[in-house]
Amino acid sequence: MITVSHLSKRFANNEVLKEINLNIEQGEVVAIIGPSGSGKSTLLRCLNLLEKPNTGTIQIGTAMLDAKHYSNKEETHLRKQSAMVFQHYNLFKNKTALENITYPLIVGQKIDKKEAKQLGLSLLERVGMLPYATQYPITLSGGQQQRVAIARALAVRPKVLLFDEPTSALDPERVHEVLQVMLQLAKEHITMIIVTHEMEFAKYVADRVIFMADGVIVEQGPAKSIIDNPQNEITQRFLRQLT
Ligand code: ATP
Ligand code: MG
Repeated sequence: MITVSHLSKRFANNEVLKEINLNIEQGEVVAIIGPSGSGKSTLLRCLNLLEKPNTGTIQIGTAMLDAKHYSNKEETHLRKQSAMVFQHYNLFKNKTALENITYPLIVGQKIDKKEAKQLGLSLLERVGMLPYATQYPITLSGGQQQRVAIARALAVRPKVLLFDEPTSALDPERVHEVLQVMLQLAKEHITMIIVTHEMEFAKYVADRVIFMADGVIVEQGPAKSIIDNPQNEITQRFLRQLT
């Protein structure tokens, strides 16, 4: 479903991703872990071209693109395959919870207003946010805002959901409600790539854990075996200093 080949990205002289190769199956939940600065966010951002990779190819669903030369049409097509959930939610502040979901549908996807509203309400229900449909982000807790952001990401029916530390900005007592929604999506076999520091969650929800360091994939495998029994010394050191 997702195939990344020889993906490289540098900022000036800093080579942040070094020939990354990655295959992800339909319905698979993959957690990416690793030290700060290892390139986790950059990898996610390259997948939907929020960052432009320098070399390599990315294939998601029916979209395929060579980083060295691609058309606007190929770019748009690839972008439509994924939706991102950010650490800081990034909701539209001047729109209600419901409007945050319907606005991209009406403006971006040219979906009829009534239909968009119905879809928006059903998505809010799915993330337990229906009672808050008419509230503005500022009146919602971080966990509630993040659940709206997840609903908004789902609205465009992406092939894969990309999460960049979705619970890192939350108060500890709010983490659980967001993880619960993500767990539900995993059970529905929605393909997800999750950059996270929540090792227990990764172990519980992810089919596979990828450990990155210094722009490369150092080690990957079934979540439990990577987290409980890492083979590589760098992975061992990283996990040890978390506990
Ligand atoms: P963290 O766990 O702290 O979020 P990360 O693994 O997500 O780290 P990235 O944000 O992908 O790491 O950054 C990888 C490297 O790329 C770092 O050295 C960072 O300074 C650099 N970098 C990231 N974005 C930019 C940018 N827009 N311009 C220049 N350098 C950048
Ligand atoms: Mg990051």
